[in-house]
Amino acid sequence: MNVSNKCVLVTGASRGIGKAIATEFAKNGARVAFTYLSSIEKGQALEQELSQYGTFCKGYKSDASDYTSAENLINQVVEDFGGVDVVINNAGITRDTLLMRMSEEQWDEVLRINLKSVFNLTKAATKPMMRAKSGSIINISSVVGLMGNAGQANYSASKAGMIGFTKSIAKELGSRNIRCNAIAPGFIETEMTGELNEEQLKEWTKSIPLKRAGQGQDIANACLFLGSDASSYITGQVLVVDGGMLM
Ligand code: NAP
Repeated sequence: MNVSNKCVLVTGASRGIGKAIATEFAKNGARVAFTYLSSIEKGQALEQELSQYGTFCKGYKSDASDYTSAENLINQVVEDFGGVDVVINNAGITRDTLLMRMSEEQWDEVLRINLKSVFNLTKAATKPMMRAKSGSIINISSVVGLMGNAGQANYSASKAGMIGFTKSIAKELGSRNIRCNAIAPGFIETEMTGELNEEQLKEWTKSIPLKRAGQGQDIANACLFLGSDASSYITGQVLVVDGGMLM
């Protein structure tokens, strides 16, 4: 899975899954551009951390949910790196509550940050990818986009939307040698899932055949595959990485 010298852009890499993805690509010799929004210190620290792998890495403070910011980001990355080979749309949030209590703001915020961001970055990135006649776009969806989850109507809808978007873009851009795939993680230990108590954690783990929560590294490994030429005949797919939970 050679990604050496490829330019990879990862959104939302200040922590959790995004950080694991950025680190894995840098370890494997890719040049890594990554974004953060509110975690400024963590974002700057990651740029330092990644420099130990001896490849060019740069962090950008950028709001993925804002189209103009996404377009400016891609222009800046192309200027700094000379192009962009792989885009990983990872930035995401939850605002969980039952539909009865869900406010219009909670719906809009989740759809804007999780789904509109994917439109923003993908649309902006396809311009340089079309010029280069190659590219790989990887959208970090979720198993709940495939199976739904009580208390996550907004989040599940955004993650299901990403899957429809992924398949459409795969069909639109396949002839340009631009691939688009989604990854559907199951239960991964990060700050996003850190709010669960011991009891809830036990319940989740019971439903996972591999009997453990996933780690950011598990998702990073799948990204490395979909970002490398080892997956060059794979597009429009949803790779479920969940320890067998969704079967
Ligand atoms: P996390 O620990 O909460 O990290 C979320 C990341 O997204 C942070 O780096 C955050 O940056 C960034 N972010 C949020 N809003 C942003 C915006 N508007 N613009 C740019 N960056 C933004 O979450 P995670 O668990 O690593 O999840 C990463 C992705 O995997 C998400 O899309 C999530 O839905 C998906 N996922 C996670 C799980 C799981 O079990 N953890 C399962 C399925 C899918 P700042 O802190 O700098 O704002």
